[in-house]
Amino acid sequence: MRGDAALPRTADVVIIGGGPAGSAAALTLARAGVAVVLLDAGRPRLAVGETLPPASKPALQALGLWSAMAGEGHLPSVGSWSAWGGAEPWGRDFLFNRFGHGWHLDRRRFDALLRAAARAAGARIAPSAAVFASDALTAGGFRLRLSAGRQIDARIVLDAGGRHANFARQRGVRRHAVDRMVALVGYVARRADAEAEPAATLVEAVPDGWWYSAPLPQDRLATVFMTDADLANGGARMTSWFNRLAAAEHTAARALRYGAGLAGPPSVVPAVSGRLERFGDAAWLALGDAAATQDPLSSEGILVAIESGIDAAAAVVRTLDGERDALLAAADRREAAWRSYLDQCASNYALEQRWPEAPFWQRRTRQDERRSVA
Ligand SMILES: Cc1cc2nc3c(=O)[nH]c(=O)nc-3n(C[C@H](O)[C@H](O)[C@H](O)COP(=O)(O)OP(=O)(O)OC[C@H]3O[C@@H](n4cnc5c(N)ncnc54)[C@H](O)[C@@H]3O)c2cc1C
Repeated sequence: MRGDAALPRTADVVIIGGGPAGSAAALTLARAGVAVVLLDAGRPRLAVGETLPPASKPALQALGLWSAMAGEGHLPSVGSWSAWGGAEPWGRDFLFNRFGHGWHLDRRRFDALLRAAARAAGARIAPSAAVFASDALTAGGFRLRLSAGRQIDARIVLDAGGRHANFARQRGVRRHAVDRMVALVGYVARRADAEAEPAATLVEAVPDGWWYSAPLPQDRLATVFMTDADLANGGARMTSWFNRLAAAEHTAARALRYGAGLAGPPSVVPAVSGRLERFGDAAWLALGDAAATQDPLSSEGILVAIESGIDAAAAVVRTLDGERDALLAAADRREAAWRSYLDQCASNYALEQRWPEAPFWQRRTRQDERRSVA
């Protein structure tokens, strides 16, 4: 199916968004024999150096994709080191992890692998079909409107459209932000004579945020400063970004060992954590980032997206079998997962106590306040 030329007029299930959440749902539904249509806007994605943790292995095995990962050009990730709560980095290497190593992803290839698997299983995929509006139908279900007057009616909609969650917002569901985080993303290009260093993530806390660096498959080191938008002043300018980097001892040393400067000016990427006030109802469900975005410190956004896609697909199958509350039960499970994520996030930030007066860290220790907006 090229573009949306061959879109059917109606479908039992339509998924908006072909990232990890939407593709995992489409693949699982197609394998269960459900006729499913996946619409993706096809917007290019910026590589931010995402890592899949070792604990992703069972989810990828469930999708039948674990063995394919090795031939996809991703870098096996051997561990994660953090200067967090103290000046010296301490490590977690994956040597003894029961799932083995993680992956430093080539995100475009990873998303393409998932979509190709969904297509091969029988899902109908429209790769450049942005949904810009939707209406609830009086007979039940929804009409989704695409460009050039095209539309498709669906009995059930899964909103996997990422952090904008447009479909859910069109249902009048508000999204609450927990913070104001942004990522200032720079790419250090590898010097030809740079010594090989372990493919691992390095996290380093500083007074107004934290840095992470992770290798990308194309000989680049994603070197990223995480802070709040109001504290980021001038951060996307080359000199300001370098001045901040110079103050992050371990990250700066790694960047210097790896390369000789930035491949281009830093990009500002939205990284706000937040959630929909509710995750769905009996005929629609939000998954992945559309439901809730996590602090990148967790390194689990993609895993959560895949797991929520698999869980949503099972709920859709039960709905089509006549179980009225299956999607609502899936929304309740997402609610429980969000609460436990908030607790984990709070205890991670509580480990860093060096700058109690700094606004960035004060905001993260006032968890009751964060919880009330969540
Ligand atoms: C700085 C940063 C670092 C991160 N690091 C990590 C990490 O190390 N590990 C990790 O696991 N996670 C990480 N994450 C989180 C991770 O990127 C997300 O959680 C993950 O991409 C969510 O997947 P998704 O499928 O829900 O949404 P997305 O990947 O955002 O996919 C949404 C899809 O929907 C499509 N779409 C959007 N609107 C429409 C529309 N109207 N119609 C049709 N299609 C539409 C888009 O084109 C896109 O393909 C990081 C995030 C940030 C910001």
